[in-house]
Amino acid sequence: MIYRRSGRSGLDLPALSLGLWHNFGSVDPYDVARAMVLHAFELGITHFDLANNYGPVPGSAESTFGRILRDDLISHRDEMIISTKAGYRMWAGPYGDGGSRKYLLASLDQSLRRMGLEYVDLFYSHRPDPTTPVEETMLALDQAVRQGKALYVGISNYDPAQAQSAAAVLRSLRTPFVIHQPRYSMFDRRIEDGLLDVLADLGLGCIVFSPLAQGLLTDRYVRDIPSDSRAGKPHGFLKPESITDARRAQIVKLNAIATARGQSLAQMAIAWVLRHPTVTSALIGASRVSQIDNSVAALDRLTFSADELHAIDQVLA
Ligand code: NDP
Repeated sequence: MIYRRSGRSGLDLPALSLGLWHNFGSVDPYDVARAMVLHAFELGITHFDLANNYGPVPGSAESTFGRILRDDLISHRDEMIISTKAGYRMWAGPYGDGGSRKYLLASLDQSLRRMGLEYVDLFYSHRPDPTTPVEETMLALDQAVRQGKALYVGISNYDPAQAQSAAAVLRSLRTPFVIHQPRYSMFDRRIEDGLLDVLADLGLGCIVFSPLAQGLLTDRYVRDIPSDSRAGKPHGFLKPESITDARRAQIVKLNAIATARGQSLAQMAIAWVLRHPTVTSALIGASRVSQIDNSVAALDRLTFSADELHAIDQVLA
């Protein structure tokens, strides 16, 4: 594994981190979830990313992860970076959604109980809440640190201006704010229009989610929609409608470029997000152990020639 420093902090993260959004819920087989976490850790993936609402059912990914910790990994706690988040709807009524102090701090307590932990390494505001003053949301993150329930804090899905406002508050509080978590892949390049520069200026790390575009940037959908894929499952966030003919044509062309590089499309997609120096870690998902092996092997070839980058740009244009 390669470890990269998160911005101007003291925190190293693995170049690949494992997210538990899909395939770790109560609807998924525990044995497979456990095998994936243990295998990832053996490969040096020391960072596991969760959120209060991951499942389904919401909360169950944290319960699954807590069970794996208890059964197998708790003696390795100090070798792991475990994150969770609050920001999307988690429970009924006005206090289970958004960016209020009430929601964030109550949610963090619930997450710690589900995982059986005294603290998380990283606690995020999962999304900006324009109806709550940014000072309130950031003070809640700061409070989590002062209470000893989080070591570092981060933000996710904030645009460049929102990230700057959040950073100004956290800097004034001297909160250990180390990372932003945006979406980034060949199919969603929005963060190239400003956010990456802002994060470099602020000295923040950047962990990018869905670098495989939820599986689109792999060999999964080159021909059809397999029934055991995210788009083939009823509770998957990726909908079959998003795999249009035009999308599939791009996937086939990108797959050919990856093959010419001696990589799988997944490996090329991971190397492509990691080519940017501001990107600290690619936050991948997986549904089976073999995908983790395949994705980690992306690290064997991280460089791109100018011709390869140009060919990729042409496909994406
Ligand atoms: P990816 O884009 O990495 O997609 C993962 C999916 O791609 C897998 O479930 C699998 O699909 C397929 N796949 C993975 N590796 C391979 C491989 N080597 N070969 C072929 N197929 C492969 O990431 P996710 O969308 O899962 O997101 C990753 C993490 O990011 C989440 O778990 C979460 O922690 C975080 N996240 C954060 C968000 C936020 O708002 N902050 C939002 C979304 C995600 P299949 O299941 O079909 O086999």
